[in-house]
Amino acid sequence: MMKAIQHFIGGNSVAGSGSRTVPTYNPATGEQSGELSLASPADVRAAVEAAKAAFPGWAGTTPLRRARILNKFLGILEDRIGELAAIITAEHGKVISDAMGEIQRGMEVVEFATAAPQLLKGEYTENVGTAVDSWSMRQPLGVVAGITPFNFPAMVPMWIFPVALACGNTFVLKPSERDPSASLKIAEWLTEAGLPDGVFNVVQGDKEAVDAILTDPDIEAVSFVGSTPIARYIYTTATAAGKRCQALGGAKNHMIVMPDADMDQAADALMGAGYGSAGERCMAISVAVPVGDETADRLIEKLKPRIAALKVGPGTDPEADMGPLVTAEAQKRILSYIDSGVAEGADLVVDGRGLKLQGYENGYFVGATLFDRVTTDMKIYKEEIFGPVLSIARAQSYDEAAQWINDHEFGNGTAIFTRDGDAAREFAHKIRVGMVGINVPIPVPMAFHSFGGWKASLFGDHHMHGPEGVRFYTRMKTITSRWPKGIRSGAEFSMPTMK
Ligand code: NAD
Repeated sequence: MMKAIQHFIGGNSVAGSGSRTVPTYNPATGEQSGELSLASPADVRAAVEAAKAAFPGWAGTTPLRRARILNKFLGILEDRIGELAAIITAEHGKVISDAMGEIQRGMEVVEFATAAPQLLKGEYTENVGTAVDSWSMRQPLGVVAGITPFNFPAMVPMWIFPVALACGNTFVLKPSERDPSASLKIAEWLTEAGLPDGVFNVVQGDKEAVDAILTDPDIEAVSFVGSTPIARYIYTTATAAGKRCQALGGAKNHMIVMPDADMDQAADALMGAGYGSAGERCMAISVAVPVGDETADRLIEKLKPRIAALKVGPGTDPEADMGPLVTAEAQKRILSYIDSGVAEGADLVVDGRGLKLQGYENGYFVGATLFDRVTTDMKIYKEEIFGPVLSIARAQSYDEAAQWINDHEFGNGTAIFTRDGDAAREFAHKIRVGMVGINVPIPVPMAFHSFGGWKASLFGDHHMHGPEGVRFYTRMKTITSRWPKGIRSGAEFSMPTMK
């Protein structure tokens, strides 16, 4: 019997009323692993109703009690991280150590959210006027929704819901249909930790479920992470429906390698940042920009043996550095990008096409690929490939390298490798990108800072988690108060001032 993957609504696993299903696959073998029910608009509505019913109770629960439940959930994650990692690897394909890493990064947001009483503290001013006091407080929005991508089936939902729940909102998650099972395990463990039914719900689905979320009158805010065309659509549709929205999109992250950089360090950094998780990371480095031809030649000489030593295998192989792509379509798309790079005249230094692994012939593998002499007019430079394809674009100066980054459509992450403090400072201050690394290839902010890019990598006003997450999931209310003794008699018709 094929595993049936369902929804989680009001504290229960439910089959839903939708008649459509899609298969899930094991990317290492190409075999079908489950059958996923796609939510109908009625299923989305049922989840929203459950969240709406749970909202008054959850919003009225003290922040400290909410934090204690999140803390219990954290303990469960710590104890059973291996179980969740295996679920991720089975549907996503990434190596187990990397799946553990994404859970760990997600747990850090849960840790941050356990500070709810501190995070929700307001401001107070005594005597804004004579015997008049004023204070502000942050209140939850109501029912909020998260729509998440395939590439981090645990971490990206955990960027979102812990902060939303800590602030007192109730939640509807619509995970990726390619690796939906992690979300259900998370829902089960939240319930075990003591989360009341209806506070966290999961609807599985595709565009139909997403559209039902975007137009539902009871959903106050939508957090989205995925590709740029969909992010743009989510942002325009959700905001037109009067919702608060943060929609994180795609990326094309460049790493400048200055002539004075430690070339071994730069090459090691590029290996992990370019090929880790088979390049299916929004913070992956997909373009290395060595400054000067000599730097480029030295860098490539360092990369070649490292790529030759990279071990590709199923995610369950503890020796593997890199697993398969997520789907057969993703594999096909990446192979066609490699073809296009060759056709447009880039130098294919290492060709990852045609990789076949014994015993895994039907898996969605593509080997690590390296292009040199990629130019800014090529499709492989302009578009997000989202696979294990690293391009070298040779710049003749720092200014030229920085200009390319500033001119690119995307502005998620970037890095510079150098020993020159001046160059690094100039880069950090002037570059038009949301997350910047100095000798750090993947500068993902920690949970207590906020994550987000610029330009076509983020639509909306708030980054995710950290202080920006708290702002996104709360509304500010400011109270001005005066008690009878201070109230003068008679009506006042002009603006009250402090003269
Ligand atoms: P995707 O855009 O295909 O899907 C994301 C979500 O949108 C999924 O839940 C999916 O079901 C839904 N969706 C897909 N098509 C839709 C449509 N037509 N209408 C409404 N909803 C739709 O993205 P993906 O392939 O799952 O993930 C990879 C992408 O996500 C990459 O572009 C990557 O850069 C990006 N990403 C960005 C960040 C970031 O922080 N900026 C983080 C992770 C991933």
